[in-house]
Amino acid sequence: MINIPKGTKDVLPQDSYKWQYVESVAREVASAFAVREIRTPVFEHTELFNRGVGDTTDIVTKEMYTFKDKGDRSITLKPEGTAGAVRSFIENGMGNGVLPAKMYYIIPAFRYERPQAGRLREFHQFGVEIFGAKGAQTDAEAILIADTLLKKLGIAVKLCINSIGCPTCRAEYNRALKAFFAPNLDKLCYDCKSRYEKNPLRLLDCKEEECKKINADAPSMLDYLCEDCKNHFEQVKTYLQNAGVEYTIDPRIVRGLDYYTRTVFEFVSTSIGAQGTVCAGGRYDGLIEQLGGNPTPAVGFAAGIERLLIVMQACGAKFPEEPKPTVYLAGMDEECRAKAFSLAYALREVGVSAEIDHMERSIKAQFKYADKIGAKYVAVIGGNELVQGQANVKNMQTGESESVAFDDMISYFQK
Ligand code: ATP
Ligand code: MG
Repeated sequence: MINIPKGTKDVLPQDSYKWQYVESVAREVASAFAVREIRTPVFEHTELFNRGVGDTTDIVTKEMYTFKDKGDRSITLKPEGTAGAVRSFIENGMGNGVLPAKMYYIIPAFRYERPQAGRLREFHQFGVEIFGAKGAQTDAEAILIADTLLKKLGIAVKLCINSIGCPTCRAEYNRALKAFFAPNLDKLCYDCKSRYEKNPLRLLDCKEEECKKINADAPSMLDYLCEDCKNHFEQVKTYLQNAGVEYTIDPRIVRGLDYYTRTVFEFVSTSIGAQGTVCAGGRYDGLIEQLGGNPTPAVGFAAGIERLLIVMQACGAKFPEEPKPTVYLAGMDEECRAKAFSLAYALREVGVSAEIDHMERSIKAQFKYADKIGAKYVAVIGGNELVQGQANVKNMQTGESESVAFDDMISYFQK
């Protein structure tokens, strides 16, 4: 037997309706905010992620699925959705088109991680990117899109926001951070030692206990924001307040790369502990230029669909009922089955969900099967019914039966 690769999961037929539900709510919310879908390839040139995610991040240093294709090109399965969307924005000249360019995606993403609950090697994201708008209103809108989705799904979360300023004010903050960490350098984990050199901001989101302890007293970026960044952050908060969205300010949230700017945010589940971050995002005004486009402000977020589903389960959120067949057509003998087959096809053609016997079962066993698959009605066709041109239709919920002419079947079940 060949097993599924480590860190991946099947979505089985009996569970896929939950995925479809989350995806349909995501699409609905996107469309309410006038955001349209973009579809980009599952793989891109490795270079895109080295430059677009950042070569000091965990993703680029240790998590990417990178391989040489037969043409000796270095290819990477996308570990996230922003880089591909930015590549497409630049390549398709969207910056010269109608701005802002608002787009969403539902994608598989691939990261070579240690699999745990809510942490997979293939996972899925719903993400939104808004290109071309620099104002705080757009940051707030990105947050509201995520917030609306989470509320519609019935997920209890805490919204944490922060500002990491702009390259100018962050330079001073980085100096302050390095001065703070210098005396404790030997106590930091291996990764943090290199973060200290390359990107001190990232020291703040280390998950190691010892580093977290040292972190607790680190200076806050918010004390170093320049006037413009401070105003921007104040405005984001005001927009959120006016929208009635509660938030907490958490100076430990960072997106430690130069092209991330100002607002960063996370939605963290209050019902599960580890891997509780269901959604994360922020502003990245430097990224489009970093990837070769004209300087373009941008803001976005991504939510992990597996984590949304885990949290929904944990907080008892309701899924709509799984769609069940409307009618099961049971046939007594071969001739009756043939009639069931053609009637079922006529119903299916007009969109009525119908099922028939595929296993040559007895009528009794067919009833049992119909019950198992949750058919709302069972239409029995026996010898007599065949002669009379009608089926005996039983409502499986009430137990009541009535005769329905074959010719009336469509109108009967279409109602
Ligand atoms: P974490 O800190 O949990 O590793 P991250 O900062 O790497 O998350 P992002 O790159 O911000 O995550 O991705 C956005 C969202 O995608 C996360 O908030 C999470 O819901 C989901 N996600 C990220 N990595 C995984 C994974 N390996 N498996 C499942 N979901 C994931
Ligand atoms: Mg990660």
